[in-house]
Amino acid sequence: MKPQVSLVIPLYNEESVFRSLITRITAVIEKAPMSCEVVLIDDGSSDATQELMTDQAKKDTRFHCVFLSRNFGHQIALSAGMSRALGSEALFILDGDLQDPPELLEEFYTHLKNRNDVVYAIRKKRKESYLKKLAYSTFYRFLDKISYVKIPLDSGDFSMISRRVTDILVQMPEQSRYIRGMRSWSGFNQIGVPYERDAREEGNTKYAFKHLLKLASEGIFNFSEFPIRFITRLGAFSVLISIVYLFTVLYKRIAYDAVPEGFTALLIAIIMFSGVILISIGIIGEYILRIFFQSKQRPLFLIDKEIINGEETK
Ligand code: UDP
Ligand code: MG
Repeated sequence: MKPQVSLVIPLYNEESVFRSLITRITAVIEKAPMSCEVVLIDDGSSDATQELMTDQAKKDTRFHCVFLSRNFGHQIALSAGMSRALGSEALFILDGDLQDPPELLEEFYTHLKNRNDVVYAIRKKRKESYLKKLAYSTFYRFLDKISYVKIPLDSGDFSMISRRVTDILVQMPEQSRYIRGMRSWSGFNQIGVPYERDAREEGNTKYAFKHLLKLASEGIFNFSEFPIRFITRLGAFSVLISIVYLFTVLYKRIAYDAVPEGFTALLIAIIMFSGVILISIGIIGEYILRIFFQSKQRPLFLIDKEIINGEETK
């Protein structure tokens, strides 16, 4: 029989938290009023995560493990887990580093049963460095201003999603995936639940600054037309300035017979506008790149093996 709820947890080199993760997860599903499975996705880990997962899945059949063929990144690993999860009512999505307390399972489930399709967590407080917090909050507010889908402020992937919305998200053919954006886009009844995001329990963040930037740009370029419209406005503004300048020069020439000079001004203008043009091309490139990847239609991820009910399938 299919479990009612699947807990979906991507893991990438998480050997140091694995034990405490399993302890807390097991305690939660033991006392949960519904039947649960735990979908662990190995995103190409190179430490002991794979062995630990295999042991766990063989020991306890509630654990359903999916091993990807290599590291595909958090959002893709999550997509893989979502597509393999069996939960007939809902998926409970959380990080493997215990930053998202699994104990909220029942509370989320109650909200879901209350005719909600998406229950997402809103971070009240982040236990992170001041700079990181500032960067996050600035980014989310900026994204909120420019995106055409209202993505709730300070919400992450930590959420519970109903079976029907899961099916929609899994079927969405987008190659560049920003799950929280796609989730908001789907609509239906969505509700935010405030919680306190804990600090990572063990190990280091798998998101280097570079990856955070990538995630941010996924949000911006996949859910906003702002960058490309901004270029047009910037172009229009430059033209306007040059026209004003042209008339000033003409006026000076006619009224005072002054010849324009200023080699430096010329140089600055050239450098500045070359920069503007290059940036604009780069922005257009971001969209083209997405079209490029989309048109290749590669599978999002490859599964190496899977363990369901303690049995390995290839
Ligand atoms: N993760 C993953 N693949 C990656 C990077 C991270 O599956 O390429 C997992 C990681 O194991 C964790 C979750 O995604 O369970 C969130 O990662 P992390 O805690 O490093 O991100 P942060 O919380 O710092 O944003
Ligand atoms: Mg984390």
